[in-house]
Amino acid sequence: MGKALIIGCGGVASVAIAKCCQNSEVFTEIMIASRTLSKCDALKEKLQPTTKTIIHTRKVDADKVDELVAIMEEFKPDVCLNLALPYQDLTIMDACLATKTPYVDTANYEPVDTAKFEYKWQWAYHDRFKEAGITALLGSGFDPGVTGVFSAYALKHQFDEINYIDILDCNGGDHGYPFATNFNPEINIREVSAKGSYWEDGKWIETEPMEIKRVYNFDQVGEKDMYLLHHEELESLGKNIPGIKRIRFFMTFGQSYLTHLKCLENVGMTSIEPVIYEGHEIVPLQFLKFMLPDPATLGPRTVGKTNIGCIFKGKKDGKEKKYYLYNVCDHQECYKEVGSQAISYTTGVPAMIGAMLIMQGTWKRPGVYNIEEFDPDPFMDALNKWGLPWIEDFNPVEVE
Ligand code: NDP
Repeated sequence: MGKALIIGCGGVASVAIAKCCQNSEVFTEIMIASRTLSKCDALKEKLQPTTKTIIHTRKVDADKVDELVAIMEEFKPDVCLNLALPYQDLTIMDACLATKTPYVDTANYEPVDTAKFEYKWQWAYHDRFKEAGITALLGSGFDPGVTGVFSAYALKHQFDEINYIDILDCNGGDHGYPFATNFNPEINIREVSAKGSYWEDGKWIETEPMEIKRVYNFDQVGEKDMYLLHHEELESLGKNIPGIKRIRFFMTFGQSYLTHLKCLENVGMTSIEPVIYEGHEIVPLQFLKFMLPDPATLGPRTVGKTNIGCIFKGKKDGKEKKYYLYNVCDHQECYKEVGSQAISYTTGVPAMIGAMLIMQGTWKRPGVYNIEEFDPDPFMDALNKWGLPWIEDFNPVEVE
């Protein structure tokens, strides 16, 4: 049916690419373009014998618009799926504009030297994408991604008005290391060491990092400590869900993770300010990333399940209503299927689905849009079909 250019070949991309190859009627040809060509070639070697999808590979520096444009002009993709790092979002969007290629990503832009993610830089591309007649779909991972689709689905089918959303991201998996991160360590540590915040009555309420703690009993995982974090979908959902009064995001962390993080913070290892070490400039957080286990190697060692979803509270037919939509994903099942743990799986599957809906024209809306602005139904069907089935609870325990 069509051709997809996939930028990046890390943990999330490996799953999305495996899923494209399972879906070869839709993805007839893909090109994997990333910084380290050997990773792209190794993945091609593993997957090509298993699929009808024709796989090409290229080396690209996605910080360079001209290199991206050259690949797009040569390959002529129907969609570009950006699974590199948030730092590359704008250069990839520039290349898509130059070649009129629809764009999909899973994380919003972050400048390398400021650990602050917000949508303003990407939303600023809206008019140019609209004039070019191409769609940009922002945030097609799990969170952001499926959490936005769940919100649009709840609004469409379960509520007249949603007033409260609590997004709960629980990883009940254990990889056996005292400290490791489940996705890119630099991006992960930037996210969790930042101040927390939530959206209430039209404004942000800021908290100290990990200041707000709750305990929740997750289906198929059990009781876990979870902490309020700032998260990017709070910004777009606050804008796109009418009637919303409060949205919060909680993520579970074990005590060992938090103790290590605190210690690393206390000695300056999570800093993004460059320092001179024996005549070389190094960024402590980038050096820490180098020392930590590569998330791509956690797959065989990780056991347990993730449980990620949204608890909604609002009104239906004049009455108060609660509704919880979530997915449970088993690390070892993911590893058996695609050779990755569940964090990469729960992001890579929605990335493939978003690219598919854009490529097929099921979602077509020139401009730059967040995922909750599209019709959720085809995405919800695809989640059930492609490995992330969802569960409904009509009487959930609320978060205090
Ligand atoms: P990885 O670090 O495993 O992969 C990133 C890939 O991008 C690597 O292959 C890397 O190349 C490549 N890359 C980095 N810089 C460049 C560049 N300048 N040019 C070309 N390629 C480049 O990260 P993950 O797979 O864990 O994460 C990928 C994305 O997914 C991130 O943006 C992350 O924030 C997002 N994410 C979203 C989630 C969601 O639910 N929405 C959840 C988890 C992640 P190399 O192989 O050479 O290092």
